Amino acid sequence: MKKGKKIFGRGANQCKRCSRKSGLVRKYGIYLCRQCFREIAPEMGFEKYS
Ligand SMILES: [Zn+2]
Repeated sequence: MKKGKKIFGRGANQCKRCSRKSGLVRKYGIYLCRQCFREIAPEMGFEKYS
């Protein structure tokens, strides 16, 4: 485990792609709202999220 963490503002409780705060997906430490996640999931190799 590494200790350094990326900082997206403070606490990072918003989408780092569009700054939306609702429906945030923090799984895998990606910090994206569901919509952004769905858009980039295929690119990232997450195909089971639908
Ligand atoms: Zn978003």
